[in-house]
Amino acid sequence: MRVSGVRKSYGRGAARQEVLRGVDLRIDEGEFVAVVGPSGSGKSTLLNLIGGLDQPDAGEVWVGGRDLGALSDQRLASLRNGSVGFVFQAFHLLEHLSVGENVALPAWFKEAPDSAERRRARALEVLDRVGIGQYLDASPAHLSGGQRQRVAIARALYSGPSLVLADEPTGNLDTGTGGEVLDLFRDLNEEGVAFLVVTHEAETTERARRVVHIRDGEIEA
Ligand code: ADP
Ligand code: MG
Repeated sequence: MRVSGVRKSYGRGAARQEVLRGVDLRIDEGEFVAVVGPSGSGKSTLLNLIGGLDQPDAGEVWVGGRDLGALSDQRLASLRNGSVGFVFQAFHLLEHLSVGENVALPAWFKEAPDSAERRRARALEVLDRVGIGQYLDASPAHLSGGQRQRVAIARALYSGPSLVLADEPTGNLDTGTGGEVLDLFRDLNEEGVAFLVVTHEAETTERARRVVHIRDGEIEA
């Protein structure tokens, strides 16, 4: 993943706010990088650009050897649901679906959607990987915060991403549970998945091999 000269502002005229002012960042395969910075410094904005959820005003974002700005909407959608996984602070589970169905959501955005059998088998596989395979058919409403975040992580892993983007993934968890989630990230990282984790917390930066500071829309060296 490589970001170069990325700029992003919101609003117009006097209300215009430059959030990112020329950000350069590179994450190699299998790296574990923490991004820290004050609230409002543009961390989520940067993650959304890398994940193709939003587009920069200027600069380039390369993921998996592809320039996101040059991709068609369909290719972008399949990259978003394939090589990149997302984990958010607020879990974002759909309450009317089972745990397994939540995990298999990325299947629906593939160019050739997975069969029902394949979805179930893959959901179980990744739920087992994060330690909660027994909840395949449960409702997310019955799970604790830490278990819900594991469901979200399993969903991020569904398509076998090479990079997981996590935006304050432990922000809604107590310290112990958050630590377990970060340990899981570390284990997955050792299996080759690269992580970019936005965080306020020291626990994350201790586990990261590299810490990147963002301030006033720029990455501090
Ligand atoms: P962080 O994640 O570091 O707290 P964000 O990237 O969420 O920061 O936000 C950076 C700044 O951009 C904030 O001032 C925020 O209010 C503003 N911002 C973020 N997203 C939008 C948006 N969609 N529209 C307008 N302003 C936004
Ligand atoms: Mg944020």
